[in-house]
Amino acid sequence: MNIQEKDSQYVAHTYARFPLELVKGEGSLVWDNEGNEYIDLGSGIAVSALGSCDAGWIQAVEKQLHQIQHTSNLFYTAPQADLAEQLCLRTGMKKVFFGNSGAEANECAIKVARKYAAEKKGADCYTIITLENSFHGRTLATLAATGQEVFHQDFLPLMEGFAYAPANDLAAVETLCKEQKIAAIMVESVQGEGGVLPLTAEFCQGLQKIADEQDILLICDEVQTGNGRTGELYAYMNFGLHPDLVTTAKGLGGGLPIGACLMGARVENVLDYGSHGSTFGGNPIAAAGALYVLSQIDEVLLKDVKEKSSYLINRFSKAKGIKSVSGMGLMLGLETERPAADVIADCRANGVLVLKAKDKVRLLPPLNIPMELLEKAADVICNAVKEN
Ligand SMILES: *Cc1c(COP(=O)(O)O)cnc(C)c1O
Repeated sequence: MNIQEKDSQYVAHTYARFPLELVKGEGSLVWDNEGNEYIDLGSGIAVSALGSCDAGWIQAVEKQLHQIQHTSNLFYTAPQADLAEQLCLRTGMKKVFFGNSGAEANECAIKVARKYAAEKKGADCYTIITLENSFHGRTLATLAATGQEVFHQDFLPLMEGFAYAPANDLAAVETLCKEQKIAAIMVESVQGEGGVLPLTAEFCQGLQKIADEQDILLICDEVQTGNGRTGELYAYMNFGLHPDLVTTAKGLGGGLPIGACLMGARVENVLDYGSHGSTFGGNPIAAAGALYVLSQIDEVLLKDVKEKSSYLINRFSKAKGIKSVSGMGLMLGLETERPAADVIADCRANGVLVLKAKDKVRLLPPLNIPMELLEKAADVICNAVKEN
């Protein structure tokens, strides 16, 4: 059996995998088992923020690997405390809870919102407004938070306590806040899985106003948009928001699993001893890697992300076969005349890996991709989108 056959026999069939076995990566390049080289514009779904096997990241991880690989959260470790400090210093948030994934970061935010609202407004105040077409994860609570029925079917009954509003429809949110007791509003400021769709600035500011005036918590899901992806450290910073809870994961660890729920001043003491926990959360190796990733996301890199973004938007806006370009920073969606799956397959055949989001071609390149590789990849994409 080759690897694809073995995988198909023994691994649950939950993923429609690309027909490619990757064996090696370096920066923004990856190689398959036959030695074919690809420019990676997917970064393992926005995870490998610094590309594959970044030398500084390896050094940071390796150093910790030789010191101690796991302690449990019954003990203190420097990487976890240092990482929490950095996250707070760079966002103004006050406390961090670490998990291992985006879904767990969101689970934490949902628990904080419920506990805050129950204590402050009563046990019957627990509903969280999320947006239609959103994606917040695959656990039962985050599945219920996700405003897309395709993910719900087969797993009913859904966990109670979520109400959905159309994105960018402030009146709908206001109505829900009048009709129901609302604990929190949870949004991705750029919907990723939903098709790389940024919210409007007016809608975001409207949400902030509702949150401030009605003591409703604002939760920003930055699992995909976070850690430099949109040209700011966190995407909410593009919209002038001041969320109470920020969740992140994906790019934070640079390839190792880590998730974080950042808590602002209003909620920093909501979780107390015994109210939440995770055996692996904030593991010292993952935290050491994340500390290094954060150290690299500085003003220079963020400016670079914005410039590369402008380059791509400019090129794709003029390209024949592309109907529209959406997104922010290095998180872009292309609406193509040809079916996205065909474009993706053609790109792959020509040495460029891109992803899909709904019916769009989705680009999530490493934040530090060299300009020459980005130009080369853009050439391949512009060819692939042309009707042939
Ligand atoms: C990927 C994603 C999640 C889920 O993250 P996992 O690490 O797969 O649990 C949640 N929210 C958003 C916005 C995401 O893009």
